[in-house]
Amino acid sequence: MTASYWAARALLPDGDGGGRAGDPGGDPLPWVVRTGVVVDCGDDGRVAAVRTGVERPPPGAVALGGLDGLLVPGLVDAHSHAFHRALRGRAAGRDFWAWRTAMYRVAGRLDPDSLLALATAAFGEMLLAGITTVHEFHYLHHPAGMDDAVCEAARRAGIRLVLLDTCYLRAGFDDTPLDPLQRRFSDGDADRWVARADSVAAANPDVTVGAAVHSVRAADPPSMAAVAAWARDRDVPLHLHLSEQPAENEACLAATGRTPAQLAHDHGVLGPSTTAVHCTHVTAGDVDLLGSTGTTACLCPTTERDLADGVGPAAALAAAGCGLRLGTDSHAVVDLFEEAWAVELGERLVTGRRGHHRPAALLGAATGGAALAPGRPADLCAVRLDSARLAGVDPGDPVPMVVAAATAADIADTVVGGRHVVRDGAHAALDVAADLRAAIAAVDPCGTC
Ligand SMILES: [Zn+2]
Repeated sequence: MTASYWAARALLPDGDGGGRAGDPGGDPLPWVVRTGVVVDCGDDGRVAAVRTGVERPPPGAVALGGLDGLLVPGLVDAHSHAFHRALRGRAAGRDFWAWRTAMYRVAGRLDPDSLLALATAAFGEMLLAGITTVHEFHYLHHPAGMDDAVCEAARRAGIRLVLLDTCYLRAGFDDTPLDPLQRRFSDGDADRWVARADSVAAANPDVTVGAAVHSVRAADPPSMAAVAAWARDRDVPLHLHLSEQPAENEACLAATGRTPAQLAHDHGVLGPSTTAVHCTHVTAGDVDLLGSTGTTACLCPTTERDLADGVGPAAALAAAGCGLRLGTDSHAVVDLFEEAWAVELGERLVTGRRGHHRPAALLGAATGGAALAPGRPADLCAVRLDSARLAGVDPGDPVPMVVAAATAADIADTVVGGRHVVRDGAHAALDVAADLRAAIAAVDPCGTC
């Protein structure tokens, strides 16, 4: 399969600095806006060539974003629990524990068939929002078949999947037994987690199977070390939820005398292949530790505000050397433009100051540091610039307005591995809204709240 795409303008790496285009840890940001851009895709799903200065779509090339759009690297959702999509708007107006009870009850109702339907539709919504890669933090392992259902959902939807196979073994630091609903998350011990993760990776060679420690609360230190070693040996990503709520910090300090970040570091969990999710309540010392180990920080501000978690110190993390990424987490909304700008807006409310993050750095977080360049995966999304929201955009410098005002509804086209999955705002194979309605009704979340 080969394909050619044209866009009126695109964000390209400046000069030969493609490897770091959009990387929020890099300074200066080497992105430039080029006009009349043709992207040729090879049959390996990668970008074969990029040409500029082509005024009209050439014969055989498909125009992305209409005749006045902006092409950017595909957006990367660095933290998702797809089945949480069934909970959107449920337990609204109630406390965290009401939401968590609803989540556990939905988790208890899902089987491989209903999870396949729900995850396929949720991934479809992501593609409509320009997301080409999802890092799925997957802990709903039992009964058998749940892991393969998530992989199959990604194939059906056409999204690139990094399955973070999550180790979840205990309910708290005092080795409280798992309640019956949490037993669906647990393999019993780290050896059995390794055996299952190995089999998931072997059965799904088209998926990047990485690892996750659910949290320092849910895995004992020897188990988190075993998970980290598994990921290191295979050179795959490792994620963990970190300091999402003050109660986790307090319980960790009381049980171990360490913060969650220190405890994770002591057991080999932090490092350049690790992504720490949330980091909402990290200490100044934790920020230095995360930065000095090269750990990536993934913020999920729409979920963090929905669950009343707080606002994480994203600017301090970036200054310490952490790359920033964004996640939709609980699918409160699926809109990485909203997540990106919420990082800046949240810090404004906390500090009473503006200007914590450059818009280009926030877009770099949303694109996962990807670049539109030969040899890179042909994962693209096109933003329409002709909506009322974006009227008046500076065509020579569209990024500030796109980050501040665009929404997922402004995504016109999404291309994954050279395949044109979303065309003019519609998924090529799925009726995403109808599929979501059916999949959510099947797990009856209304009965949970
Ligand atoms: Zn999460």
